[in-house]
Amino acid sequence: MTGDGPNGARTTRILHRQIAGSDQLPIAVSGQGIEIIDKTGKVYIDASGGAAVSCLGHGHPRVNAALKAQIDQLAYAHTSFFTTEVAEELADHLVAHAPGDLDHVYYVSGGSEAMEAALKLARQYFMEKGEAGRVNFIGRRQSYHGNTLGVLAVGGNLWRRQQFAPLLFNSYHVSPPYAYRDQRSDETLEAYGERLASEFETKVEELGPETVIAFVAETVGGATQGCTTAPPGYFKRIREICDRHGILLILDEVMCGIGRTGTLHACEQEGIAPDLMAIAKGLGGGYQPIGAVLLSDRIFAAIRDGSGFFQHGHTYLAHPLACAAALAVQKTILEENLLGNVQKQAAHLERRLKERFGNHHFVGDIRGRGLFWAIEYVTDRGSKTPFDPALKLNARVKREALARGLACYAMPGTIDGKAGDHNMLAPPFICTSQDIDTIVERLGDAVDAAIQSIT
Ligand code: PMP
Repeated sequence: MTGDGPNGARTTRILHRQIAGSDQLPIAVSGQGIEIIDKTGKVYIDASGGAAVSCLGHGHPRVNAALKAQIDQLAYAHTSFFTTEVAEELADHLVAHAPGDLDHVYYVSGGSEAMEAALKLARQYFMEKGEAGRVNFIGRRQSYHGNTLGVLAVGGNLWRRQQFAPLLFNSYHVSPPYAYRDQRSDETLEAYGERLASEFETKVEELGPETVIAFVAETVGGATQGCTTAPPGYFKRIREICDRHGILLILDEVMCGIGRTGTLHACEQEGIAPDLMAIAKGLGGGYQPIGAVLLSDRIFAAIRDGSGFFQHGHTYLAHPLACAAALAVQKTILEENLLGNVQKQAAHLERRLKERFGNHHFVGDIRGRGLFWAIEYVTDRGSKTPFDPALKLNARVKREALARGLACYAMPGTIDGKAGDHNMLAPPFICTSQDIDTIVERLGDAVDAAIQSIT
C-alpha cells in the first residue's frame, strides 16, 4: 500500500489522530541531531521535538548505545516478580535531583498515565489517612493533562472534553494564568497572580476544604495554553493555600519539565515543591515511551504503613529498555551541561522571536521560558480578536512550515473563542544559535504565507 504522494506519503492503515489528510504525512525514515529526514530525502528541523519530546534530538550515540546494551542484557521483567538495576539507578538519579522531598518514583509509560497515577496516589493517600470525604480535584480551565478519562476530567480544555463530558467524574476548574488576555490594565503581575490564587482559595472554601484532594496544574502551561508562565508569587500562594487546608499540590511537568524551561524542573524557578509531580516527555526524550510520578515521603509512607499496596499498576511499568534510555538521556542532560545551553539559547530564541514577530500585525503575544515558546495570532492587536477557528490558522502555519523543512507544533484557539491559534517551538537542548536563526526565519516565512492564504 505504498503511495507516491508528496514527500513519499503512503496510504495509511494507522488511525492517526487527525484522520483527514493523514495520507499526506511524510514518511520519516531517519533522524540525526535536530533533523528528521523523510523517504524522499527531504530534511526537516524538528523545531518542537514533536510535542516537546526530543530534548536530545535524534540518534544520540550515548542513548543508542545504552539501549543496545540493555536489550542484549534484559528487555523485560515484570515488577511483581523483579526489580532491575537500571530501574533502581534511574530512580536514584531522579530522586537525587528532585525538588523538596520527592524521594520516591512510580514509573509509567507516558504523560497521561503519569497524571492518572498521580490522581490515584493522591486519593489513596487520603484513604490511608482515614479522610474518605476528600473526593474533589480542582484544576484549571484550558488546561491539558492527558487524554485518558480521569485526567480529561481534571483537565479544562473544552474541545478535548466536550464529546466525553457525560462520562467524566465531576471536577472543578479555576482560571489559569494568562496575562496576555486576563491581567487587568490597572493591576501589576503580582496582583494578578494574587487574584488567581484567591480564586482558587474561594473555590476551596466553597467546596469545603475537607472535600478537596488536590490542586492540579502545569507549572508552565503547554499544549493547550501556549507556554503560559505563572505571575511571580502565584505558585508560592497556591502552595500556602494548599498547606493551610491540608490539600495536595500536583504539578504536571510532563511537557514543561526536565530542563525545558532552563532548570531541571520548572517548579524550581517558582521556589516551591509539589507533593506529586508528573514527568514524561523529556524523561525518555522520545527514545522510549516512559513517564514517572515523583512522590513525597509522606505520601509514600502513608501507603507503605497503611495498606502497603498502591491500588494501581500497568504491565510495562519500570520497563528496563525505557529506563535504560531515560537514564542515558538524564545523565547526558546533566553531564553535558545541556541546561546551560538551554539557558543560553533561550535568550537568543526570545530575542529572535521578538525581532521577527514583535511588530507583526497578526501576532498578538510572544511568550515562554527556556526553550519553550509560543506565538499567538490575532486579527487585530488592539482588540486581540482571535482568527476564526474554522480557518485553522495554526494548521496552515504547520503545513507551510513543513513545506519549508520545519516541524513545529500547532495549537488551535479555544472553542469558546477566548484564545487564538498558536504555534509552539521547543527545540532540542543541543541546538545552536544558528539553528535558532534558521528556525525563526522559516517560521516567519511560514506564518506570512499562511496568513496570506486567508486574508
Ligand atoms: N500533560 C501534559 C502537560 C502534556 O503536555 C501531555 C501531552 N501533550 C500529557 C499530559 C499527556 O502525555 P501523553 O501524551 O504522553 O500521554
